Amino acid sequence: MLDEFLHEPRIAYFSMEIALQSDIPTYSGGLGVLAGDTMRSAADLELPMVAVTLVSRQGYFRQRIVDDGRQVEEPDPWQPEHFATPLEAKIALPIEGRTVWVGGWLYVLRGHMNGRQPVILLDTDLEENSAEDRAITHHLYGGDLAYRLKQEMVLGMGGVRLLQALGFSIRQYHMNEGHSALLALELLRRYAYPPEELRPGESRYNLPRVRELCAFTTHTPVEAGHDRFPYGLVHRIADELVDLATLKQLAGEDALNMTRLALNLSEYVNGVAKRHAEVSRTLFPGYLVHAITNGVHPFTWTSEPFRRLYDERVPGWCHEPELLIRADCCLPDAQVWEAHEQGRKALLERVQATTGLQLDPQRPILGFARRMTAYKRPDLLFSDIERLRALSARHPIQIVMAGKAHPRDEAGKQLIEQIHRHQRELAGEIPVAFLPNYDLATAQCLVAGVDIWLNTPLRPLEASGTSGMKATFNGVPNLSVLDGWWIEGCIEDVTGWAVGDSGTSNNDDDAASLYEKLEQKVLPLYYGNRDGWIRVMKGAITKNAAYFNSHRMMRRYATEAYIR
Ligand SMILES: *Cc1c(COP(=O)(O)O)cnc(C)c1O
Repeated sequence: MLDEFLHEPRIAYFSMEIALQSDIPTYSGGLGVLAGDTMRSAADLELPMVAVTLVSRQGYFRQRIVDDGRQVEEPDPWQPEHFATPLEAKIALPIEGRTVWVGGWLYVLRGHMNGRQPVILLDTDLEENSAEDRAITHHLYGGDLAYRLKQEMVLGMGGVRLLQALGFSIRQYHMNEGHSALLALELLRRYAYPPEELRPGESRYNLPRVRELCAFTTHTPVEAGHDRFPYGLVHRIADELVDLATLKQLAGEDALNMTRLALNLSEYVNGVAKRHAEVSRTLFPGYLVHAITNGVHPFTWTSEPFRRLYDERVPGWCHEPELLIRADCCLPDAQVWEAHEQGRKALLERVQATTGLQLDPQRPILGFARRMTAYKRPDLLFSDIERLRALSARHPIQIVMAGKAHPRDEAGKQLIEQIHRHQRELAGEIPVAFLPNYDLATAQCLVAGVDIWLNTPLRPLEASGTSGMKATFNGVPNLSVLDGWWIEGCIEDVTGWAVGDSGTSNNDDDAASLYEKLEQKVLPLYYGNRDGWIRVMKGAITKNAAYFNSHRMMRRYATEAYIR
């Protein structure tokens, strides 16, 4: 099984989470979906890669909503043996003074164009380990800071060691976010000069060698969002990394900052959109932060009806999505509308089946789905209920929402409750559906079935955002705050509409702008000018899907980050 992947050097792609398929719960949100799309594009483009992640046997969590709108978290276990092959090799890692054995599973990601990529799922649930250590790789983003540090040791250090034990030859290491930055310390140790070659006063570590091997993609535009571990904790749990003086030099004086560590040990660093790279440069002055704007996997995020239409009218789009640049001239309006109608029908059926709510087949659907957390502002649309009522009285709308809040994000959970309060408040006037347990399959149905994709984050906190890109592959225009990718993707009235301006965010101004756009542009166009509406749908495909896809993204990583 493994042999077919060992004959050529590969890029090792490390990520705490990865969305391989809807029923493997090793992901929580956009970061994991991006990792999955990265590997799916690598499969289609035949880039030699290997992904490394944790097996997360207990998953992230399964979301259930009880009557009042309260999120209840249930375990979401999965059985790796049903999807993956156990690996024979295992390696030992010193954690908290004990030896922890790390083994793993081989999942083979099969692309729809027959490409194959190996994914290594690291697992400490082995007989040799104590009950406590067997659980290190169980819960994605679970546990306390000590648990997280152990997970990151397994991911970074364990991952590098296991790849070697398995016989992989790695030409480059790519860290998807800072969680895996300990891999660079493992490489420092591996490539350290032998003591007999050292001149007095010289460092034993070969920093240039390690930096050459590492690339780092940062995803978090706020200082507080980066993993930091106090050195006391590091000393207790990870005593054998590198000497403390070197560590502090590389990872920060006051605490081990995973982002700093990754920045200092990576030759190539990038943010996930142009604005995000700028923000990262001010956050971390002195580092050269490039920009490679995210993209989404064309085949995965295009609904069946649109796939058929593109196959017929834009052959080759799956391998070269830039061909969609011709979509505005090649796609007949009637067929675009028909493909969209099918996607919308599937969504109406899903909403009915899961919530019992019967949406109106005539009203446009506003879609909002992503992790539920304060900065994403899922409540912005409801900030002036009377105005929302009034605009819907003139041009009736309906709303479909979905998203999980992290179990410890109380503010996020309250937002979900608030959405449910608005749902009750608006009953009979504006239908609001909340689809529980947001996952890949729900996302696929949503981005193809709504009429308008909404995103209203607090600037500049949306590093990129990708769900709006998924909508564009299905001819769904975005109505969004100018942040992340939408700064690059928005052409007013051509690909969609902007909410607010590009200055600092302000809830009142952004809400006013959102209502104004709906009242004056979006809904009058939807109701009054079908041809004009379809022109915007085709604008989204032509100008956005052609560019914001993970094939373009991976071709750029290949030529700018991997081959230097
Ligand atoms: C795409 C996706 C996300 C990311 O959504 P954003 O709007 O970019 O934050 C999160 N969760 C799932 C299941 C997705 O498919």
